[in-house]
Formats: sequence, structure tokens, C-alpha cells
Amino acid sequence: MGRCIVCNKSAGPFYSLHKACFPAYENASRCIQHTLEDAVKSANRVDEVRQSVEACLPSRGFSPGLLATLVRRAWKEQATRLVRSKSLNPEYANNLLSIACALGVDDRTVAPDLFLKLSNIEYLACLQQGQRPLKAFSTGLDEFDMDAAESLLWVFEGVDKAGQKLPDKPGKWALMQTILNNQFKRSRYREQELEVRAQGKLAVTNQGIHYASEAETEKLGFTEIYAITPLADGVRIQPVYRDSRSSTYITGDGRFTYALLQYAQDQAGGLTAENPF
Ligand SMILES: [Zn+2]
Repeated sequence: MGRCIVCNKSAGPFYSLHKACFPAYENASRCIQHTLEDAVKSANRVDEVRQSVEACLPSRGFSPGLLATLVRRAWKEQATRLVRSKSLNPEYANNLLSIACALGVDDRTVAPDLFLKLSNIEYLACLQQGQRPLKAFSTGLDEFDMDAAESLLWVFEGVDKAGQKLPDKPGKWALMQTILNNQFKRSRYREQELEVRAQGKLAVTNQGIHYASEAETEKLGFTEIYAITPLADGVRIQPVYRDSRSSTYITGDGRFTYALLQYAQDQAGGLTAENPF
């Protein structure tokens, strides 16, 4: 016998919600969505968001897991809306991260990429204004083989590097094109046409990119890059050498990675040794 998620009484086999309880469920869901939508717009309301959300529940008999489920869903909806929006709002993004903290929403139960994209919004806003994003990266940089004139701009951690598998039948090429056009999600890159070769760190400097994993360390200067293509979760980089295949770096935030590389490349175009960045 399933218990009704609203009144917590038996709802009969195969059911978890009484028909009569459905309006209460709908009201709670909508109330939580509105509460989060309001709190995103005001740092003051973030402090009281937990009480406001709890006030959305009917007074008694609500099953305990339901609050968490409705909160997660409402948070994910707000986060998705913010990271997809063309107009960047760092203040809202930071409020939403604080809300996640206040409500115990974490990236294991929602989506790690959403957290990453939200925390990158303030830096993306800098880049859009042509400003250098200022963030300190101190630990674990030894693995990059940087020269003395090189200055570090950013480090992406936990980056999958993938190469294209050569298609074994002609029909597969169409599928690969679809994937490269962002029709599929991150997991599909791994399973299907892109062969993941390594996971490591990607550093962006004033001279180019470095990639370091257990298997390899690699440097590609901006003059050695022919094209950079943005993907939903990363970028694809085509080197200038005719016989080299492109590599895909899956950072979790393609929009930001692409904007950062464009900025770095632009800056590198007008660089002198005395004036790095
Ligand atoms: Zn019920």
C-alpha cells in the first residue's frame, strides 16, 4: 500500500496521491515556486526563505520527503532559467546559490553543471564587458609547464578531454554531426561518438591553453589554434595542423569557456612581453 504524499494516509496499491489531495499538492508546489522566484530577486528574502517555503505546506500530515522534492524541482527551474537567459544577472545567480545553501539543495541531488554555470555568471558578465575576470587559482598549478612570461587566467578542474572517433560507417557521420550540434547531452558524448581520452585540468593563459591529466600534459598556443567551437558543456578546438583532429574539452560550462577563450585570444593578439593582459 502506498501512502499519499500529501495526507500521509494509505492511498491504495499503485497510488501515492489521493485525487482529493491533488489540489493541496498543486498549491504547495506553486507556492514554493513563487517563493523561490521572489527570493532570487532579493537578498533580504534569502534569509527567510526556509520559513517561507515551509509555510507553503498544508498544516499537517504532509509527508516529510515531499518538501525536499518540491524545493529541488523549484530550484532547478529557477537555475535553468537563469543560466539560459541572455541577459546575465550575477546578483540573482548569487542569490540562488545562497538559496540552495539555505534549503540544503546540493549538486548531487540536482545537477553539478547548474551550480557551476551559476557561479560562473559573474565572471561571464565581466567578459561580456571586455574585462578580465579576477579569480585566484593557487593550488596544483605545478603540473602546467608555463614559461616565465605566461600569466594564468583560469583553471577548469575535472575536465574531460575527448577526441573524435572515426566513423566506421557513413551513416554514423550524420549522428556525429547531430551530437556536435549540441543535440545530445554530456553523457552521450561519453557513450557515443566521442572517445573520452582523459580527465584533467584545463588552464587558460595569455599564450594559449594547457591541459594536464595523468596521461599527458599538453600546451596549445593561440597561434596553433585554427578554430574554437562552443558546445553546451565545453568547447571543441581544432588545431591548425592539417592532419590533426579536433579535441573536445568538457568543462561543464560551454558558454563561459568559449567566452573566456575568445577574450584570452583577443588579448593575446595585442600583447607585448611588458604588458601581459
Ligand atoms: Zn491524501
